[in-house]
Order: sequence, then structure tokens, then C-alpha cells
Amino acid sequence: MIEPAPHDPHLADRAERARKISASPENFKVCEGCDSIVSARVATCPNCHGYRFDESPARVVEHAELLASRPQRSVTSADLE
Ligand SMILES: [Zn+2]
Repeated sequence: MIEPAPHDPHLADRAERARKISASPENFKVCEGCDSIVSARVATCPNCHGYRFDESPARVVEHAELLASRPQRSVTSADLE
């Protein structure tokens, strides 16, 4: 369980996304080019147009939690569909 800082709504939003991703990591993958978490259905990364991904659920969960703890990084387009 990730407890976001109450004064930082952006971080809270990121924690919420991380929680969703962690709940179903098989629906996501990590871009090897820019470290974004993207939908498992995309063929190329929407951010850097890379095509190399790490699809292991363990890596996805680990990365989601990492992103949730870093205010400057973003989880991109994972839940835009
Ligand atoms: Zn990328």
C-alpha cells in the first residue's frame, strides 16, 4: 500500500495509477528506451517510439512503485484507452 503525501495531488494521482498497474501488471510493460510504463497492447512506445519492452510483471510492478515515489517522473498513457 502506497501512502501519498496529502499535500501533493500529483503524487497522489501517480500513486493511484501505480496501484492500478500493480493490480494488473500483465496489462502493461516497461519501455527499455525511456522507462515509461505503457499499455501491453502498444507496438511502439508513445513517448520515444522505441520497440523494446520488458513485459515481466515483476518488473512492471517494481517500476510502477518507483514512479509513484518520484514526483518528477510520469506514468504515461497507460490508462488513456
Ligand atoms: Zn519509450
